[in-house]
Amino acid sequence: MQDKLTLMIPGPTPVPETVLKAMGRHPIGHRSGEFQAVVRRTAKQLRWLHQTSGDVLVITGSGTAAMEAGIINTLSRGDKVLCGDNGKFGKRWVKVARTYGLEVEVIKAEWGQPLNTEAFRTALEADTAKQIKAVILTHSETSTGVINDLEAVTRHVKAHGTALTIADCVTSLGATNVPMDTWGIDVVVSGSQKGYMLPPGLSFVAMSSRAWKAYEQSDLPKFYLDLGAYQKTAVKDSNPFTPAVNLYFGLEAALEMMQEEGLDTIFARHARHRTAAQAGMEAIGLPLFAAQGYGSPAITAVATRSLDAEQLRKVVKEKFDILLAGGQDHLKGRVFRIGHLGYVCDRDILATISAIEVALQFLGLQKSKVGSGVAAVSAILNQI
Ligand SMILES: *Cc1c(COP(=O)(O)O)cnc(C)c1O
Repeated sequence: MQDKLTLMIPGPTPVPETVLKAMGRHPIGHRSGEFQAVVRRTAKQLRWLHQTSGDVLVITGSGTAAMEAGIINTLSRGDKVLCGDNGKFGKRWVKVARTYGLEVEVIKAEWGQPLNTEAFRTALEADTAKQIKAVILTHSETSTGVINDLEAVTRHVKAHGTALTIADCVTSLGATNVPMDTWGIDVVVSGSQKGYMLPPGLSFVAMSSRAWKAYEQSDLPKFYLDLGAYQKTAVKDSNPFTPAVNLYFGLEAALEMMQEEGLDTIFARHARHRTAAQAGMEAIGLPLFAAQGYGSPAITAVATRSLDAEQLRKVVKEKFDILLAGGQDHLKGRVFRIGHLGYVCDRDILATISAIEVALQFLGLQKSKVGSGVAAVSAILNQI
């Protein structure tokens, strides 16, 4: 049915009407005083969201632009880095780092398992010559629905004393606590189409003072993504290039909504939806893909055993206008993923779990009683 699509994927995520309306106006001049005021207000809101006293720089580009910026602004040719890889986005970090000629040591975990924080500790403690310049990892690994222990890894990096922590927080920021300054994360990257309740098009890089010191030494080539230029203009409430002006209007409206809800309430909502989605899937008899205790608050990946996950997704989409995400790479057909990130309410979770149950019944695959998933979800939603 037209205009009924519900996005239950980990980006793009649903956009509130207030935000859509804020964007639906004529653009204004990006060098005007009016736009500078928008930049000034959003800069303050972004510091609030990141729990940092430093600037959060805004790039017109997708999340990967922010990832690339995080690397090329802090590192130099031939630098040694440790990279965590337990899914598609961890792999992307490795690829970006290798593209720029960095010497990458990969700390791997099976897809579905969290990164072993002790492996980071061991490698960092063994590095008495202080050759490791950065530890790079993904906080919430969207491809597998695993949340990595970023706090513990950051602690080991701080004990090393030299290396920076560069973190992909694309599906953790705005979903769970990422206190940048308190944990001491040096570079936090994120993207608008995830926890921000915005369409795709903006990405964000927050840098610590240590990261800015590293910037001074960094010799990797950069022009559009040279964060020095963004920093220089940020102090004048401006941007080096023409920013996505209308997305900025949306950004201000979305961050206002988030401030009204409050960080703790937002995090509690995401945690509740994770618990509910997990309980629903288990009641239906579909196994969770992420290791127990490591489910991301933004996304629940579900294994489908003999059932073709793509077929289930198709039925859910066609019958109910609910879009689930598929498995990525070798998980295609074997896994589907429920995004519960951003502008998602209890009703969306209830509707999604029941749609999955009915689709399974439609396919003749429902083993448990229809309604057992909904019963499990409602028990969670009524309780917390
Ligand atoms: C979505 C996402 C990105 C960014 O992807 P883009 O398509 O470039 O916006 C990066 N990391 C993670 C973990 C993501 O979920």
